[in-house]
Amino acid sequence: MKNIFVFVFMLFFSISACTNEPISVLIVTGQNGAHNWQASHVLLQEILNESGLFTTDVVISPPRGEDMSGFVPNFSAYQVVVLDYDGNSWSQAANNAFLDYVRNGGGVVVYHAANNSFSNWREYNEIIGLGGWGGRNESHGPYVYFQNGVEVRDNSPGVGGSHGRQHEFVIDLRDKEHPITKGLPASWKSCMDELYDRLRGPALNMTVLATSFSDEETGGTGRDEPVLMTIRWGEGRIFHTVLGHVGGRGDNHPAVMNCPSFIVTFLRGTEWAATGKVSQKVPENFPNNN
Ligand code: ZN
Repeated sequence: MKNIFVFVFMLFFSISACTNEPISVLIVTGQNGAHNWQASHVLLQEILNESGLFTTDVVISPPRGEDMSGFVPNFSAYQVVVLDYDGNSWSQAANNAFLDYVRNGGGVVVYHAANNSFSNWREYNEIIGLGGWGGRNESHGPYVYFQNGVEVRDNSPGVGGSHGRQHEFVIDLRDKEHPITKGLPASWKSCMDELYDRLRGPALNMTVLATSFSDEETGGTGRDEPVLMTIRWGEGRIFHTVLGHVGGRGDNHPAVMNCPSFIVTFLRGTEWAATGKVSQKVPENFPNNN
């Protein structure tokens, strides 16, 4: 019985692969603060490739502190760019190429600490919607969180970006009709992960798809913090996931990257950023907190 199920499952994917051109993805990495980009970008690529929906290339920047002038990714050759990058400023040519790409309708996935990067690049902050660290404060925009089921934009002064201890937190949908979230349960439990809080930024044209309660018992804010978002910038579509912390050395295959909560939302968000649609079915092993 199990073999038949596997066969049908594989048949479904092979039919999909035949009828739809795979979506071209560029993963941008090479520097990522204290995160292990060497591990994370390989895991992101495996997740995308194994879905059968995407073809992937990876571009790796020079190491931190080295000459960035020759680093100008060919963004516009792809349907969606996955940012696994928090590091040195790019050249003006790379910045312009990225903005042209998004302005003209290119898709972007902001993955975890990519929202730490480029705190003083105004357009980048508009594209990510919310960010943290890098000296972010009230001059970068409001805190955005939910209170009593309502989105709050809070202009009070203070640093942008912090997190409590890693734990398994509940993710609550705030938009059940968006293509990325349609069909997902109203709430589910994540795997062990790092929950960002106190993110702040321009938050223009931004829709919060899901939040998680940041419990003070685990060092959080006591607020429902955004974890999945979409942003529109120019003609471009941006999917922002704060999930998927991959830490330092020795933490090469953290459970979070093998977690349906991360994988399914990442794949759906990447497809939507590229095409504006989501063709994927929600798998039966997706967690459900109801
Ligand atoms: Zn992290």
